[in-house]
Order: sequence, then structure tokens, then C-alpha cells
Amino acid sequence: MAKKTGKKAFDAAEAVTRQAQDAGVRLIRFLYTDNGGITRGKVTNVTRLRDRIHDGIGLTVAMQAMNMLDQLAAVEGMGPVGEIRITPDPATFRILPYAPKSAAMTVDMLKIDGEPWEACPRSFLKRQIEAAAELGITLQMAVEFEWSMATKGADGSYQPLDQTLCFSTTSMTIAHAVILDIVEALEAQNIPVELYYPELGHGQQEMTIHHTDPLTAADNHIFVRETIRNVAYQHGLYASLAPKPFLDQAGNGGHIHFSLWDADSGRNLMYDPSGAYNMSDTGMSFIAGILEHLPGLLALTCASYNSYHRLQPHFWSSAYTAWGPDNREGAVRVASRYKSDEEGSANAELKAADLSMNPYLAYGALIAAGLDGVRRKLTPGEPTLVDPGNYSDAERKKLGIKRYPTSLNETLDALEKDAVLTNALGALLATSYIAVKRLEYQSFSQQDDAFETANHFWKF
Ligand code: GLU
Ligand code: MG
Repeated sequence: MAKKTGKKAFDAAEAVTRQAQDAGVRLIRFLYTDNGGITRGKVTNVTRLRDRIHDGIGLTVAMQAMNMLDQLAAVEGMGPVGEIRITPDPATFRILPYAPKSAAMTVDMLKIDGEPWEACPRSFLKRQIEAAAELGITLQMAVEFEWSMATKGADGSYQPLDQTLCFSTTSMTIAHAVILDIVEALEAQNIPVELYYPELGHGQQEMTIHHTDPLTAADNHIFVRETIRNVAYQHGLYASLAPKPFLDQAGNGGHIHFSLWDADSGRNLMYDPSGAYNMSDTGMSFIAGILEHLPGLLALTCASYNSYHRLQPHFWSSAYTAWGPDNREGAVRVASRYKSDEEGSANAELKAADLSMNPYLAYGALIAAGLDGVRRKLTPGEPTLVDPGNYSDAERKKLGIKRYPTSLNETLDALEKDAVLTNALGALLATSYIAVKRLEYQSFSQQDDAFETANHFWKF
């Protein structure tokens, strides 16, 4: 059996190597995303690609203890001694339209013996996908990408590309050339773009991608972030996917859409025409699990110091543990369906998510939280049909609606106490993640707003 798997991997390595050679590709990026949410990588010459797909490239274990300021957190076992192998998944091979003669693949972090490393984010997501499959559930996921397009002045300060209105055609005029190039670059990488529109904030844009299985969705997430940043840069622009790059403007969300499907029948398990808002009991329980674990889950879905500047009441980002049909101030919005495909379009969205997340960790934790709700048959309580920020404190208390933790540090406290999430992550991943993020909190909390925005602006 082991032999057969090895042979299969070798065939895929061979196929990808030929594809790279035929296209004249010279450099192939092996991309991993760390506990700080930053995508980093190493690059192999095409001449060594076949072997590298097999063997991976060596990486110090310490990189999973590094935060987004390149500061090393103290994590036992993640110091200068020890190595893992970043080993690409050939199925993710993409020729990069924005970097001549280059291609990329996303990787798993494997130990020297070839087994997944306990702190590998992509392997964590795979484990959660398997946990869902054990309950007969497969998932479909997609993220909405919001970002702010900016120019950079000689003094190093960023200025929004425009000051136009929400969904305004003037903004479309200004951003047309770069948006068109982004769409074409994504399609060239087999990532199906659905919608684009200028958003509320100055220079703010939004693009949506068609949903797919969670692993592909997370890989696509990385390629989309890379593409937006790179194509904008080719146009002399800076695309900020930070949660709140301009503190006086609307923030950038990365709302995560999800639906649950029956592995055997291919039916949407969230859809039940007799349920409230056509949502099934299973769908409601999954949502209830997310709401129950939200205080700790936020540490993974709203993962940066800057995230908590975004999560304010009345900013359409959500700030309370409420849910409701098409309620854009709720943590979870049950999306209304489309007539042409009532069942297929039944899904819900976690609004409390932004693009500073590591998608493998955030999607995996969302699945772990939701599955806990399904296993325990939790119910999410009454829907919220108004902006929960308009209720008085007493009304919110009566309805069981809670304000989110208001800082990264508080969400880390909640994550530390959440046995479901930390057990799903496993000891090494949970410990290293929390240590990296605590250090991040500590470093940013000693600095001012300008340091915060400058050091989040162009990282994701
Ligand atoms: N920009 C808002 C956010 O921070 C979302 C606006 C919307 O699409 O509803 O999540
Ligand atoms: Mg939006």
C-alpha cells in the first residue's frame, strides 16, 4: 500500500514537472502560511522540482513560532534545533500569471519521516474534514475578499485609491484596469470569480469566488491573496487585505460561507423547506456550535491585533454573538436562497472573519466548532431580526446576545479555555499559535495606531 501511494505521488511529481518545463517555468514557490497568518515560502529551481516534490524543502521548526513582526515566541521544541519539510501538494500547482516563468504550490509541513507535523495548519484542516466525513458530512466553503486599494506617498504613507461611494461606477472606472487583470489572473489559475464591486470604504474593493471543498477553498484563499497583492503591485498600487487599514474607514471582512452536504446522496444538509428560513436542524446545530465557540474561534478567524479595530457595532462587521436571516450585524448570517437553485444556494456566513486569518486554521476551527454543535444537537436560540447593537444591554442580556471579546488577548484567553478547539488543534499547534499571537498582542499594544496600521497594511 505504502508503495502504491509513493508511486502515485511520483507520477504527480512527474506530471507537474513536465507541465512546468513545457510552460518554460524556471522558479516554483512552495507556499506555507504560518501561525501569524503570513504566507511565506521557499523557491526551487525547476531543475530540482521532481525530487523536491518528493522530498520537500527543509525548514526550521522555529518558523511556526515566528509572529508577523518576525519576532520569535518562546515555544518549547520550536527553537534553532530541528527541521521539517515543506512538501507541496501537486494538485495545487499553478503557473503564476503575475510572476514571469514562475509557478507555485501550497504545502504540507511534514516531519522527516514523512508524517504530518503536529503544528502543520494544512494537516489540521484535513483532520477536521475527516471528522466531518465521519458524521457523513462534506462541506462547501468560500470566502468574500474585501480589500483596500492604495497608493504610497514618498513619505511611505498609504492613501486610498479613491474617495468614491459604495458600489459606485466612478470607482469601477478608476479601478477597472487592475480589477480586470486580477479577474483574468485568477481565472488563469482556475479560480472562478463570481462577483466584483467597489465597497463602502475609500479605495475598498470586493471579489467573491465560487465555493468548493474546504481544502481547495483554503488553497484558493492563499492564491487569491497572492494574486490581488501582486497584480495591484504591478499597477503601482498597494492592496491591503488587513482588517482595518484605514482606521476611519469601513474594515475589510473575509466572511466565510459554508454549507453542509450529505456525502452519499449529494443533498444539501442545511436545506429543509419546512425549517425556519428553510434551514434544517443540522444546519441550525452547526450554527449553534459556531456561536457557542465564537469567543475562542475569533482568535483564529479574526486573528490579528488590527482585527479588533474592525469588530465594532454598526460597522457591518458584526460585534455580537447573534445570528439572523440576512442580518449583516449578526455573527452568523443565514443567507437567503436564490430561486434558480433553492437547495444549492442554502448556506450561512460567518461575518466575524477577516483576511488576517490563516485559512487552514480558521476553516478547520470553524468546522470543529460546528461539528461540536451537530454532535450535541445544540440550537442557536432565537434569531435576531434587527441590528443587535440597537438593543439595550438589558435586552441583549435577556436574549443571550454577548459582545465579542474586544481584543486579541481576550480571544486568546477564550481559546485557551475552549477544550473543543484546543483538542482539535492538538497541543503543539494550540500552544504555538497562542504563543505567537500573545507576542503579537504584546508588541502592538506597546505601540501607537500608526505602527499598527503600517505593520498590518501589506502583509496578508
Ligand atoms: N466591510 C464589512 C466588514 O467589515 C462588510 C460589509 C458587507 O459586505 O456587509 O465585514
Ligand atoms: Mg462586502
